[in-house]
Amino acid sequence: MTVEPSSEAPDLITLGRRIRHARTARGLTLEALGKQVESAPSLLSLVENGRREPRLSLLRSLAEALEVPLADLLADEPPSRRAALEIALERAQRGPLFGALGLPVVKPSQRLPVPVLEHLVGLHEELARREEEAIATPEEARRANTVLRHERQERDNHLPEIESLAEDMTRRAGYTGGALTHRTVAQMAGALGLTILHVDDLPRSARSVTDWKNGRIYLPPASIPGGHGLRSLALQAIAHRVLGHERPRSYGDFLRQRVEITYFAAACLMPQTAAVAFLEQRKRAKDLAVEDFRDSFGVTHEAAAMRLTNLATVHLGIPLHFLRVGDDGALFRGYANDGLPLPQDVTGAIEGQLVCRWWPGREAFTRRDRATESYQYTDTPAGTFWDSVQTGTAADGRQFSITVGVPYAHAKWFRGRDSRVRRTSTCPEPACCRRPPEDLSDRWERASWPSARMHQQILAALPRGVFPGVDDTDVYRFLERHAPDPEDAGAEA
Ligand SMILES: [Zn+2]
Repeated sequence: MTVEPSSEAPDLITLGRRIRHARTARGLTLEALGKQVESAPSLLSLVENGRREPRLSLLRSLAEALEVPLADLLADEPPSRRAALEIALERAQRGPLFGALGLPVVKPSQRLPVPVLEHLVGLHEELARREEEAIATPEEARRANTVLRHERQERDNHLPEIESLAEDMTRRAGYTGGALTHRTVAQMAGALGLTILHVDDLPRSARSVTDWKNGRIYLPPASIPGGHGLRSLALQAIAHRVLGHERPRSYGDFLRQRVEITYFAAACLMPQTAAVAFLEQRKRAKDLAVEDFRDSFGVTHEAAAMRLTNLATVHLGIPLHFLRVGDDGALFRGYANDGLPLPQDVTGAIEGQLVCRWWPGREAFTRRDRATESYQYTDTPAGTFWDSVQTGTAADGRQFSITVGVPYAHAKWFRGRDSRVRRTSTCPEPACCRRPPEDLSDRWERASWPSARMHQQILAALPRGVFPGVDDTDVYRFLERHAPDPEDAGAEA
């Protein structure tokens, strides 16, 4: 038996189903039809089952005998819901996924009730979906993330096209300088035909939901803690449209889109021309500080620090690094184009890796006064670096630190360059900070057993719904709840 090329097989299955549909609609048996077209019933059966391609002459006779136009038999949609299910089952059983299971084939005959067909086809679809999902393993996700980080480092974390798009859109909406207001964000949305609405029942898995049909962006209520991130959320929602994003096909796609929308939002909140003017003036005064950049544009410390990585190398000629470290010492996010050796695993991923105990991002947790930035010089095998660090508290109550640092030669541009704090780090050498003191090991190694806190899975495989990472049902129910009454919409128009 030969296997038909898969591109051809589906058409034959549909054709067969359309012939059978027309035949049974006329109450004809295979024998009766066979007599009319002068063909063996067994041959007709093969044709109806999509196992044999009929000659054109036979097709013409069949159309005539069944009193339907030939084009009708050749149409490519299934003739009924039942036929669609039969075709789906037939196709699934001819596919490699089913073949590998070694299970007996079920013939989608007339005797199979529709609920049984629905059941079988549903299982096959779920099987295919799970197979696809399994491809995006956490390891693949980590690799995709690493590739993206290296790309960003090679481009000095600067995306000129998104910069000019953001610059243009903010200016059109009336931005002149300083912090971008909620009102300006609303005007940017309005220019795209979108209204921003605040609701308190967003699906748990979504940060925002956009209803393209009715032109609405739904965001959490303005009053929740951390509400200053709302402008960023709205801008990220807008970004998917203005950057022409399609539904992501892979984890790499998904991450790239994330990077782009975050970049776009940051480039709107701190537009290039205004931000660079501010930074250049501060550099001239040898008084660069992330905290001032943050305050003058009304963003979070982390947003200001990350934005600095977009602009400092290209516009100020300063290579730099950025780290977000948790209070357990694990790296949550990092970037370096200045040679700082970030800790990494065998795949090259940095997320979740412990940073050196002597790095300022961890030292900062030992400080009493954390209201302002702290500064430190650190000697490493890759040279001496100067850093500024700010600690904060995340939504889950845990502490984190934001580090921005530069090689020694560039410290002169920054506030805090006169710091007297100096540490030595020889990581990844184990003796630096990874090996406990010998007397303590002797005493406790065999006399203790700590239970580890599970690391938050930063890059777990995404649930593969229609939209990656969110619960589709929740999203659709939410949209139903909030969609305007069609009559109202009509009245407005
Ligand atoms: Zn160390």
